[in-house]
Amino acid sequence: MDEMNEAIYSPEWTKIGAEVLKEYQDDKFKNIHDLGINVAFLTSKEAPVTKGKAKMGECIAVKKEYHKRFIPHDYLIIIYEPNVQHMTPEQKKILVEHELMHINAYENEEGETKLGINPHEVEDFQEIIDKYGADWAKDVHTQMTWDDYNEEYIETDPQEEKTA
Ligand SMILES: [Zn+2]
Repeated sequence: MDEMNEAIYSPEWTKIGAEVLKEYQDDKFKNIHDLGINVAFLTSKEAPVTKGKAKMGECIAVKKEYHKRFIPHDYLIIIYEPNVQHMTPEQKKILVEHELMHINAYENEEGETKLGINPHEVEDFQEIIDKYGADWAKDVHTQMTWDDYNEEYIETDPQEEKTA
């Protein structure tokens, strides 16, 4: 069996997450706030590399059956500590903002909360590029990648998303 690199709860990233969620609670993160979506911020000592690039983080929607049985969160945001250790506080906030933008939680017509994942337009969200520039993480690592959402679990119906 492979050695397991467990992700552990991170007070540091939880604090950054709370700040970022608060900053945007009336606009782009309003749904997370209004629906009471519980996001856990974890760190891992793993330093994953995808296609030759260091992966900074990951956003995972917790499947309903896991949520009910043993994971008391709707989403997990995992930060790969070795790949982000040289980030400035400002860069860490942008990374968290990026990861939170993957969250697509909404209520369907039956009033059920659905947990989807927003993929990015390019390697980053266009809004992040517009606001901070495409190379905002460049000083940290020359070869960064996001590649950080569980695509197999995109529950969102694109048509539904458009009308929302
Ligand atoms: Zn991403």
